[in-house]
Amino acid sequence: TEELLRKSDKLSVAGQLAAGLAHEIRNPLTSLRGFLQLLQHDLKEKQHYFDIMLSELDRINFIVSEFLVIAKPEAITYKKGDLAAILNSVIALLDTQAMLVSIQLLLEIESDIPEIICSEMHLKQLFINLIKNAMEAIPKDGQIKIIVSVDGPDYIRVRTQDNGCGIPEERLKQLGEPFYTTKEKGTGLGLMMCFKIVEAHKGKMTVQSQVGYGTTIDVLLPMNTHELEG
Ligand code: ADP
Ligand code: MG
Repeated sequence: TEELLRKSDKLSVAGQLAAGLAHEIRNPLTSLRGFLQLLQHDLKEKQHYFDIMLSELDRINFIVSEFLVIAKPEAITYKKGDLAAILNSVIALLDTQAMLVSIQLLLEIESDIPEIICSEMHLKQLFINLIKNAMEAIPKDGQIKIIVSVDGPDYIRVRTQDNGCGIPEERLKQLGEPFYTTKEKGTGLGLMMCFKIVEAHKGKMTVQSQVGYGTTIDVLLPMNTHELEG
């Protein structure tokens, strides 16, 4: 099953987004407030309250930072970048974490890849999100392949292929919707951010998946987008 997902229409619903974001932020804030009140009464032997408060603060920070990257796509600055170098640094960043859960990260570069006009920071964020999702879809002992190739005259294709749990067909259209998550500690903002970043680069992202076999996400990035620069 394959579906080209267009999300601009959904993403423009700013009010819905703001409401959702406020809701996400309010939960940890309420919790923090409650623990602070308890601490006012009894500061001794309550060390674990601090742990909870710190992790709730980290969560707010994480949600807000995931959100901020997509809030202002027009503020992205573009310059010439080396996709292979970007992917190598992303894999270096995630490799130790992957090895701990017996997941192999493999990078295959199938041909000479020209430099492209891009925002290195945002492309890193894009591939970190895709690979993290792939890792989270694999309970243990898996493989994630990142295959880079030239696709036709205009595009470079970066394929992220995992042998994880897969996504049911009826869920595919929900991918990239803000706050859509199936994870207990998920934000449901990662893929929305990925779509935004790809869209800002004038690229395309498609998802193919089969439950029980795995998921393949193709990111197509255009090779000649000098108008993005400057
Ligand atoms: P989060 O990771 O916080 O849940 P995302 O926006 O990154 O939010 O992903 C949304 C949902 O899409 C996930 O909760 C998961 O159900 C599904 N998903 C994304 N990538 C994959 C994948 N590689 N394999 C299986 N499911 C995936
Ligand atoms: Mg995610």
